[in-house]
Amino acid sequence: MADQHPLRQQLLARLPGMPALLNHPEVKALREAHPTLFVNDLVRRELEAMRQAILEAPEERLAGMDVDLERLALRAADLARRAVAPSLGRAVNAAGVILHTALGRAPLAAAAREAVNLALQGYTTLAINRDTGRRGDRHLHTDRLLAHLTGAEAGIVVNNNAAATMLILNTLAAGREVIVSRGQLVEIGGAFRIPDVMARSGCKLVEVGTTNRTHLHDYENAITENTALLLRVHTSNYRMIGFTGEVPLADLAELGRRRGLPVMDDLGSGALVDLSAWGLPKEPLVQESVRDGADVVCFSGDKMLGGPQGGIIVGKRALIERIKKNPLTRALRCDKMTYSALEATLKLYLDPEKLPQVHPVLRMITEEPASVRRRAQTLKRLAAPGCAGRADLAVTPGETEMGSGSLPGKVIPSYVVQVRPRTLSPDDLGQRLRRGDPPVFSRIEDEAVVLDLRTVFPGEERVLAACLAAALG
Ligand SMILES: *Cc1c(COP(=O)(O)O)cnc(C)c1O
Repeated sequence: MADQHPLRQQLLARLPGMPALLNHPEVKALREAHPTLFVNDLVRRELEAMRQAILEAPEERLAGMDVDLERLALRAADLARRAVAPSLGRAVNAAGVILHTALGRAPLAAAAREAVNLALQGYTTLAINRDTGRRGDRHLHTDRLLAHLTGAEAGIVVNNNAAATMLILNTLAAGREVIVSRGQLVEIGGAFRIPDVMARSGCKLVEVGTTNRTHLHDYENAITENTALLLRVHTSNYRMIGFTGEVPLADLAELGRRRGLPVMDDLGSGALVDLSAWGLPKEPLVQESVRDGADVVCFSGDKMLGGPQGGIIVGKRALIERIKKNPLTRALRCDKMTYSALEATLKLYLDPEKLPQVHPVLRMITEEPASVRRRAQTLKRLAAPGCAGRADLAVTPGETEMGSGSLPGKVIPSYVVQVRPRTLSPDDLGQRLRRGDPPVFSRIEDEAVVLDLRTVFPGEERVLAACLAAALG
């Protein structure tokens, strides 16, 4: 029971009732436009939360509490408005991180979106053999394409690269030892750390070498009759400089062949085209890992590849077949949307010259700085009327990051619009932009909100200008 503090009693007595709240014009409009019972429920919960807050507030805070009908109704309406709007929706990425994990990593190519849209108009040919009419194998949608593009014998897809890593380790090395260099015991974030993944896959981690240098004889000396696998992990999100040394994959593969042990390569991002063709640092190529002799290679579908979330495994057919038979594969399998988006994305790579036009990630990476600057100037011009008197705008050079652990330590030169609000703090403007429609994600640099045009799609400048005006208004 609540104490008898008079202020608490007063607040509880003044708390509006449900009928008053439901009849408030803002709430009423929402109840008419959206499922009424859902809106009613949200309002009831908001009222209940207020009652609870009054009951639990320490005495010294009671004086500052407010149970005004108007305020409560507006808050409930705001809550309801947000609850009925799509929670997962389109966003504008002006934050300048191309593979922004929290914004869904790679934006899909139009071809991939269209493929998903077409496939999902009705039933699909997901896992049926059209010759026999019997149950088929969903992995076959991408097997040939993956083999052609990477040079591997076969390929399959699972939920993501974390799943791919665990699945390979579990299939090839459960209950046995896996040798990996100390310099490659990476943490990707989101609780993906190689030693933990190893343990959960049922394998025993055998670390060799030192943090900065590992030699071939370190691996060789660690091989016992219990060794099942040699693992290389691409140190995707950090770089070591100075007195460092890793064993080239080709040498590790040769050792594996000599000792009858499979070699696995976790590439992380893994690219299918060489970025150095566009003057960028090279991200390891999947086809090079295959050529260098890795028996199984895994990489993400939604990092550099530019496809849907997925973990792609390519390699020797015999090993891929063993992986397919692991019951975990069933638990980690992808759905029809993934296969149709991935198939369409992979097909873009059959015509590599066209990639920068049709592949959003490669388009962003390869857009000429002069073109990014022009779009920044366009945004500044479009936004100027809505910002007049409220913020100062300037176009300045900036830097775009690859994100998702790709090209660590490297940035791509870009152009940004710097927004210096006059009455709001940059943090407040950033929050208002995120809460807008569509939500806009920016970054803060030198006490200004920065909008990086390299990750803003051509054509989005107008909506971005409108969002900025709304957030400042
Ligand atoms: C990103 C990454 C993973 C995890 O991939 P997800 O697709 O995010 O599951 C695993 N290993 C490495 C080396 C990575 O860079």
